[in-house]
Amino acid sequence: MSQNAPQRLYLMQVGSMPEYQIPIVCYLVQTGDGKNILIDSGLPEILPEGEAEFENGQDVIEQLARLGLKPDDIDTVISTHYDGDHAGRHAAFTKAQYVVQRAHHVDAASNPRFADIRSQWDQPMERIRLVDGDTELLPGLELIETSGHVPGHQSVLLRLPKTGAILLTIDAVPFGEGFTRDAQDDGNNPDAEAIRASTIKLLDLVEREHIGLVIFGHDAAQWDTLKKVPAFYA
Ligand SMILES: [Zn+2]
Repeated sequence: MSQNAPQRLYLMQVGSMPEYQIPIVCYLVQTGDGKNILIDSGLPEILPEGEAEFENGQDVIEQLARLGLKPDDIDTVISTHYDGDHAGRHAAFTKAQYVVQRAHHVDAASNPRFADIRSQWDQPMERIRLVDGDTELLPGLELIETSGHVPGHQSVLLRLPKTGAILLTIDAVPFGEGFTRDAQDDGNNPDAEAIRASTIKLLDLVEREHIGLVIFGHDAAQWDTLKKVPAFYA
């Protein structure tokens, strides 16, 4: 296995939607050569008006501190998309390079959906790496383009020495019950077609790559069963 391959995956819950008990989460990957790769950053410190359904918990900075890490120790922030519960603390990571799908970054520039936390994700371009479609970030860590939830959403596939392949679907498949080939078009979602295509893309990936663990984006029942910081997958 390559020296810079992922060695550990940490799961952190940084908030919730209390009404539905839905966890708001982010992830940390540590590599064999000592790099810290954060996947998403959770809710903003101060929730924008109109985001009353969210509630902050122990935020990403506090969770990282439990592992002895400071924000400046983060080398890379993989940004799955710029929704407020995924990119809310991006600006705290002043030494990191952000990795995001070009299609998403371009869409976000003029999409009011992402305006509330623009100060978090709209960083100097020399610190943003735009990628186009499926991209191997390093050996054992791949970004999988899964548009639908938003244009240019990305999921993450990683391989760990003991656990093997793990898929983080993020919001392409927020709940395990939706991870099926059956159409779930409710008839009034304009993005239903893309969501379905991305779901099938991930189902195919799970078969092809023999993925043993699929972690869904906001699945409370599954989340209860998973290891959380300070425990980790190796
Ligand atoms: Zn989400």
